[in-house]
Amino acid sequence: MTALVLETYGRECWLKLPGCKRVATTKDHVVPFSHGGEDVLENYRPACRSCNSKRQNRVRPGYGASVVVVIGPPASGKSTYVAAHCKPGDVTIDMDRIARALMPYDPPASHTYPQHVRHIAVRARKAAIHSATRLRERVTVWLIHAVPTGADLAEYRGLGWQVVTIDPGRAIVEQRAMDQRPEEMMLHVRRWYSLHGEAEKPAPVASPGAPTTSAEPDW
Ligand SMILES: [Zn+2]
Repeated sequence: MTALVLETYGRECWLKLPGCKRVATTKDHVVPFSHGGEDVLENYRPACRSCNSKRQNRVRPGYGASVVVVIGPPASGKSTYVAAHCKPGDVTIDMDRIARALMPYDPPASHTYPQHVRHIAVRARKAAIHSATRLRERVTVWLIHAVPTGADLAEYRGLGWQVVTIDPGRAIVEQRAMDQRPEEMMLHVRRWYSLHGEAEKPAPVASPGAPTTSAEPDW
């Protein structure tokens, strides 16, 4: 079957995740075997060995959950954007909310959660991402990833996940950070703009309906 897949679809890896070898030598399931994907030509695409093992059985567009990664500097309005666009049954993975849920009281907005809470939250978030990106249900998984690296973004794009950038502009973000947790948040604000640059024009924060495909967002 592998030879037939390569003969039919060519030898270019269809995933192109970071570290991709480009030349496909394996067959990758479109719908993973664990999701009921069948052993037929139409359900395979050529992939290099590296990408094939990296993808595992995570969803790609066309079946199962749709993943929307929401990125942007602190206090840019990522959670607000998700709240405005989500529908019943959707899943949201938000580090800040996970950390808050682990605390036995509701901390004020200006509160920085302790290091041990962050440690637990990071692991909980990772487990949530693992499960949510393998959902068969046709829901949207909103993954808030504040400041992703270039490799993270390359992986998201390789998997066909939509990436939405929320950036109302540096001046607004800095003002909000100063009003909340200046020391901690300004660090992240600077990190965001050094990695992703400043948007030429502020991104639209919320438009009605599902976010449009942004294969090449401004970062
Ligand atoms: Zn590859």
